[in-house]
Amino acid sequence: MTATSLKLFNSLTRKVESFHPVHHGEARVYTCGPTVYNYPHIGNMRAYVFADLLGRTLSWKGYRLTHVINITDVGHLTDDGDGGEDKMEKMAAQRAQSIWDIAKHYTQAYWEDVKALNIRQPAHWSIATDYIDDMLEFAKSIADNHCYELDSGLYFDVSTVADYGRLARAVTEEGEGRIDSVEGKRNAADFAIWRKTPAGEKRQMEWDSPWGKGAPGWHLECSVMSGKLLGFPFDIHTGGIDHREIHHPNEIAQNQAFCGCGSLSDVSNSGANIWMHNNFLVERSGKMSKSAGEFLRLQLLIDKGYHPLAYRLMCLQAHYRSELEFSWDGLEAALTRLKRIVMAVGTARARLDEPLEEPKGGWTLDDAHGEVGGALLPMLARFDEAMSDDLNSPQALTVFEDVLALKKADPVHKMQLIACMDAVLGLGVLTLERADLRIRPKAADISEQEIEAALERRKAARAEKDFATSDALRDELTARGVEVMDGDPLGWEWKL
Ligand code: AMP
Ligand code: ZN
Repeated sequence: MTATSLKLFNSLTRKVESFHPVHHGEARVYTCGPTVYNYPHIGNMRAYVFADLLGRTLSWKGYRLTHVINITDVGHLTDDGDGGEDKMEKMAAQRAQSIWDIAKHYTQAYWEDVKALNIRQPAHWSIATDYIDDMLEFAKSIADNHCYELDSGLYFDVSTVADYGRLARAVTEEGEGRIDSVEGKRNAADFAIWRKTPAGEKRQMEWDSPWGKGAPGWHLECSVMSGKLLGFPFDIHTGGIDHREIHHPNEIAQNQAFCGCGSLSDVSNSGANIWMHNNFLVERSGKMSKSAGEFLRLQLLIDKGYHPLAYRLMCLQAHYRSELEFSWDGLEAALTRLKRIVMAVGTARARLDEPLEEPKGGWTLDDAHGEVGGALLPMLARFDEAMSDDLNSPQALTVFEDVLALKKADPVHKMQLIACMDAVLGLGVLTLERADLRIRPKAADISEQEIEAALERRKAARAEKDFATSDALRDELTARGVEVMDGDPLGWEWKL
């Protein structure tokens, strides 16, 4: 079996292209990370599940991966253009806390979600405020030829680089009027790369610069951290689809300026060879908005009793370029599917004489080729084809389930194949147990031990044909919110 070459959709060319790494055998990926002014919502987390799926696929196909995800703790305004307030400053003022404390708290919360969703740790979490000196150097190097100063800051003149806005396919030169107008701007789409602190004010976060005290612009941060940690051009830059409109076109313009201003007909002049964007998770009732009080964060799903990996599966069930609609029914369906998968893996595991050994560094496609016998290789090839086709995870999941359904396969080879596929999917099915997936809302006032004990007593009563006691125990549980599910084929037994 020969491995299929990896094809990815490049937003810059709007084409599916073969992946050819810049550095032989390596893959260097930069992902725009969260602005840590609030908890991430589950839509934000879809962007990192996607980036993780990409990273896992690259590792699985044998590339040495260097993944960078940044943490934006300064500079991101409430409007992606140049309008509004700094998100961090606004939250710090609302909470009467220091920006540093806000950043620390929400970075930690984001990392907890990352862990809960089996998103692998990148090589670097680059924190924007750790790179201020580099940002100043970068800005100084492009200031003379590409920027001009206004009272409010140093602005990038988008007319100084070729093909500005190609990534967004902006219809008008003004970028469809999407950028707040600032007095004195040469072009509507020009953007601040350094925002000066207004005279007479003091900001919690501000640094000296040749243009006066101030703070970097959000777009500058990502250009600087990606270039510094991965080198221009690197392989792949990712983000949510909203970044295709303003943030990434502006990063690209800065990268062009920094790297000598080549036209975007050669994509590598953009700073990265491939720009990839995940589509949005949408929710009709507006619960995704962080300004809407209780909003959809991963912890809310967990509090309602859903295992976070059910949400990961929900993401994988849709192609990353398709919009995905969130609903509680959809989440429950994903949980049930995950449970079926985990039960099938449990059955496969029970057929092994000894536990499966994992290769050092995790399973790769090559390991699987070496280990898995001939009869199962076509399944591996189908899985590889699906993932190589612009990360077609919905298709890969069906192949995974076909493997789980095999009745006559060699048990060791089957388990190796399961492990190898899960290295890409990241559902953690080798360690998940059926009981981990039981719906257990945080608000429930009955413990699992109490439920199990009542069910044991009920079993004993039924064995003695004491149906009155058995029914009374069931009614008692029902009254406390526990649904007893006799004869459930999925073996849930009970549900809160
Ligand atoms: P932010 O913290 O606002 O910079 O967003 C973090 C990441 O989430 C970015 O890559 C956004 O493009 C992405 N994103 C924002 N909203 C959604 C959504 N509803 N669905 C998927 N990705 C999103
Ligand atoms: Zn970014």
